Amino acid sequence: MSAVTTERAAVAELHDALIDLLGPRGVSTDRRMLERASVDGARMSPVISEMLPLGVAEIVAFPTTASEIARVVQEAVARGIPVTPRGKGTGNYGQAIPSAGGLVLDTSRARNIVEVSDGSITADAGAPLAQLEQAARASGQQLWMYPSTLNSSIGGFLAGGSGGTGTIAHGANHMGFVAALDVVHADGSGLTHVEGEEAQLYVHNYGTAGIIARATVRLEPAVAWRALYASFPSFSGALSVIRELGRLDPLPRLVSADTIEVSAALPEDPAIPPGRSSLRTIAHPEAVEEATRIIEAAGGRIEAVREGATEGAKLSSLSYNHPIEWLQRSRPGHYYHLEVAGDVLADDIDLVHATIGDGLLHIEAGHTVPIGMLASEYTGPEDVEAAIERLTAIGVGVHNCHQWNVDFEMGRTIERARTTDPFGLLNPGKLNPDYTGPQKGSIR
Ligand SMILES: Cc1cc2nc3c(=O)[nH]c(=O)nc-3n(C[C@H](O)[C@H](O)[C@H](O)COP(=O)(O)OP(=O)(O)OC[C@H]3O[C@@H](n4cnc5c(N)ncnc54)[C@H](O)[C@@H]3O)c2cc1C
Repeated sequence: MSAVTTERAAVAELHDALIDLLGPRGVSTDRRMLERASVDGARMSPVISEMLPLGVAEIVAFPTTASEIARVVQEAVARGIPVTPRGKGTGNYGQAIPSAGGLVLDTSRARNIVEVSDGSITADAGAPLAQLEQAARASGQQLWMYPSTLNSSIGGFLAGGSGGTGTIAHGANHMGFVAALDVVHADGSGLTHVEGEEAQLYVHNYGTAGIIARATVRLEPAVAWRALYASFPSFSGALSVIRELGRLDPLPRLVSADTIEVSAALPEDPAIPPGRSSLRTIAHPEAVEEATRIIEAAGGRIEAVREGATEGAKLSSLSYNHPIEWLQRSRPGHYYHLEVAGDVLADDIDLVHATIGDGLLHIEAGHTVPIGMLASEYTGPEDVEAAIERLTAIGVGVHNCHQWNVDFEMGRTIERARTTDPFGLLNPGKLNPDYTGPQKGSIR
């Protein structure tokens, strides 16, 4: 029997086993379903877009609980079939694409909120962050942080994301945010409960050390946040206050600023006037007066102060990668982007602009230094390499958004995966010991 026949037979066997486990609606080999399960937000990258499709699933499973997630992994591993976990598929580097085919484990139906307690919330991996925030709010609490893709899954955010609304206070890369995880390894075992430092070993490595089936993350007392919109005649005006706003007492949940061009690409809103640089912050109600003073003293104008959880969520949806996505929509195929960080972004924006020519920026007040997304005209992959080199030379930290290798704490993931994934079946192709590009953790 050829290798292909053996593989096909293994997938057919897995299909039968998963029907027994999940029922006929819990598994699919339908071509359209497979194609849908094999794409993520990688279209944001023109470099990766040119390489698509990078892989297509042979089978997709939809477990509805943490224990079903564990059983699905066990069934695939027993047959030597690769497993690529998937939440909402919004990750934007192709890291959820099943490059070796095999099984896509779609967790989006495993969305139970298991428990809300004082200071933490436990949910199955596919639960959307919006649902977690809502459950937390009902108990007088809020999540420490969530990404601008608020409907993405908690498992995907921990395994593929790095920060967002709340990062100013709590930092990036989920340090301390994750209290405990129930993970599944590719060694035939069931659910393994890990806490504290050990739980960090499964963060931002795309499921390559283990698949998150259930997560417990930190909550804090809820705040009646205010969504404050301001504008400045120039981007440098907005940047001149970004760090001061990010250090307000009490701390804001988010501070975002955009160049005039990026501001113009955002959805129409009277609080984002044309021809001006937009600055937005989710401010603590006790800090609104001081924020107003700082903005006006720097020549800015308050456009609106809005109340209510929906307004905060709306402002979050205009942060991190979202302004760049709007910019790309305004001129399809024109821009590539890089994730950047460093004080130089706020201290010397003219130098950054001169270094990158036509670069357009979206900036956030980070936990320690400003962080941002830089968009520039794309003419080929060599643009990306050259830009990384030039930006690094002037002290800007850069994360390359055009590759899918694990680039955060790679060494510790390799070490852990040695025992938790002895046959290399978990999201194959993403954990590459030869990867020498910029490390994500080093830029914040
Ligand atoms: C416009 C835009 C804005 C964004 N803004 C932010 C932002 O503010 N902050 C941020 O951090 N990210 C951001 N992202 C990236 C992404 O949306 C988030 O990281 C999101 O939380 C990922 O969740 P998901 O459910 O979509 O995960 P997916 O895209 O489905 O998966 C992400 C990665 O995690 C793996 N994975 C998924 N589920 C599991 C699991 N249960 N166990 C182990 N591995 C798993 C996948 O294989 C993949 O490698 C943005 C992306 C876009 C396109």
